[in-house]
Amino acid sequence: MSYRRNTTFIHGGIDGDETTGAVNVPIYQTSTFKQDGLGKDRGWEYSRTGNPTRAALENLIAELEEGRYGLAFASGLAAINTVLSLFKAGDKIIVSDNIYGGTFRILDNVFKNFNITYQIVDTSQSEAVEAAIDDSVKAVYIETPANPLLTVTDIKKVSEIAKKHGKTVIVDNTFLTPYLQRPLTLGADIVIHSGTKYLGGHSDTVSGFVVVNDKELADRLYYLQNAIGGVLAPWDSFLLIRGIKTLGVRMDRHVANAGKIADWLSESGYVSKVYYPGLRSDPGYETNKQQADGAGAMISFVLDERYDYRIFFEKLNLITLAESLGGVESLVCHPATMTHAAIPADIRRQVGIVDELIRLSVGIEDADDLIEDLEQAILASVKE
Ligand SMILES: *Cc1c(COP(=O)(O)O)cnc(C)c1O
Repeated sequence: MSYRRNTTFIHGGIDGDETTGAVNVPIYQTSTFKQDGLGKDRGWEYSRTGNPTRAALENLIAELEEGRYGLAFASGLAAINTVLSLFKAGDKIIVSDNIYGGTFRILDNVFKNFNITYQIVDTSQSEAVEAAIDDSVKAVYIETPANPLLTVTDIKKVSEIAKKHGKTVIVDNTFLTPYLQRPLTLGADIVIHSGTKYLGGHSDTVSGFVVVNDKELADRLYYLQNAIGGVLAPWDSFLLIRGIKTLGVRMDRHVANAGKIADWLSESGYVSKVYYPGLRSDPGYETNKQQADGAGAMISFVLDERYDYRIFFEKLNLITLAESLGGVESLVCHPATMTHAAIPADIRRQVGIVDELIRLSVGIEDADDLIEDLEQAILASVKE
């Protein structure tokens, strides 16, 4: 029986515990499982290979992404590491020109050493993706909206192009979550998440996910998950199941707050640029509207040159200066020195991650308190 999304958040995956009637999936805090005889296990052997709490969560994320197979990892990067391990020396991966800094780092400083290379492309221009495809390209890796400039890529168009050439499409869906966007239904082959962000939702757990539809691809990924070993612990799996129960209600408030703040920033006269695909004026607005049920709650902006962004960060009272995003509390960060410091300065500038860029993860507090905090910090940062 499959339910509508808002019900699946609460009852999806494995609902409660059949043995005791507990309404929550128990935390199976065990590394190993008794076998009744040689070759006679009860479906579980060892918790790296499989654990019932993790399995409940893996079923849940698969249902939410409208995919068939889900895998849970100890971090988003453990998920990304496992997906990149599908490739071999000589393979090349096309990546969006603004992606999570850690994704760039693992490509540039880990997989490149194994001769799995990458090419940076502005994937918001599907012609550019097609032009970059050659025999060595095995996959296209996109984030949409991308981090930190919220550039939107047309998942359907890129998937059609990739499919025509027999390439795999990987989408990092962290920013919108399956509540707002389901890339597998748009033609993508692999969905990746940092569950640390909106899925967990409370800035208390690091985790990652992969979801696919294809059985052969799933088998290979389960093999790699077990072989590499970056799995999510039972307790953390429980926290993620618990977080996901409120994903829908949290996202509604996140998105409403972000819309208010993006409008306010645009009209405030305090900023020279606002990046948010929920603004009609944003170049990604139409595509995002077509493929997603909302624009998410990440906003980037550039303060007008009258204000000093360094002082702005220090003057915030309510909004916290910190890495990460997607929690109930609003966070602000400075991509050039924090989340995207791993990207060399010349590439950063080339793609528009200027030193003055500020990235805001809009939480679920009262939007008017957030706006008041932004305004007082901006006004207190006027240059001498
Ligand atoms: C945070 C993040 C990651 C990495 O996930 P971790 O859980 O920090 O390992 C990957 N992609 C995006 C878009 C992220 O925001």
